[in-house]
Amino acid sequence: MKEIIQLHDKKFRIMIPAEKIDEAVSAVAQRINQDYADKETPLFVGVLNGSFMFMSDLIKKIEFNNELSFVKLSSYEGTSSTGQVKSLIGLNNSIEGRHIIVVEDIVDTGESIEHMVRDLEARKPASIDVCTLFFKPGSYRKQLPIRYRAMEIGNEFIVGYGLDYDQLGRSLKDIYVVTE
Ligand code: 5GP
Ligand code: MG
Repeated sequence: MKEIIQLHDKKFRIMIPAEKIDEAVSAVAQRINQDYADKETPLFVGVLNGSFMFMSDLIKKIEFNNELSFVKLSSYEGTSSTGQVKSLIGLNNSIEGRHIIVVEDIVDTGESIEHMVRDLEARKPASIDVCTLFFKPGSYRKQLPIRYRAMEIGNEFIVGYGLDYDQLGRSLKDIYVVTE
C-alpha cells in the first residue's frame, strides 16, 4: 500500500490497513450473528454510495438467511457536512413487520442517519438497528442509538473502502486520512 496519496487538491496518509478493517468487520458481523440468530429473515439496507464495500464484506460473514437492498440519501460535498439532507430513494418493497439493519459507511454528526431511520420508522418495520463502519463520537449530536460501530475515529476526514473525497478514493482497500 502507498503511504501518501493525492486526491484532487489534498494529500492523504495511510491510517487503517485492509487487514485491520477486516478484523473490525468480522467482529461486528459476529455480534450481529448472535443478536439476530432467532429473527425472521432480517433485511440489510445499505446506504449508497459509501457503504457498498462494507456491505459486500459484512454480508459474506452473516450466517443467517437475509435479504439485502440499497437506498440513496446524499448530503455531503467536499470535506465538511452541508447539513442538508435529501430524501430516501430506492426502497420499493414494503418493510412493514421486517427486522431492518441499516448499513452505513460513517456516522458523523448523525444528521443523515437520523433522517434515514425516521423515514424507515414511518414504514412500520418490526425493528431497526444501525450498523456503521465508522463512528465519530466527537461530532455525533443525536440521541439515536448506534448499536453496531465497527470502528470509532476522531473528527478527521477519511477516504477509502467506499468513502470518497469528491468521488475519488472509494476503490482504495485501505483507509487514508487527510493531512494538515
Ligand atoms: P452526518 O450526516 O452523520 O454528519 O454525515 C454522514 C455522511 O457524511 C456519511 O454518510 C458520509 O457520506 C459523510 N462523511 C462524514 N464524515 C466523513 C469522512 O470522514 N469521510 C468521508 N469520505 N465522508 C464522510
Ligand atoms: Mg454515507
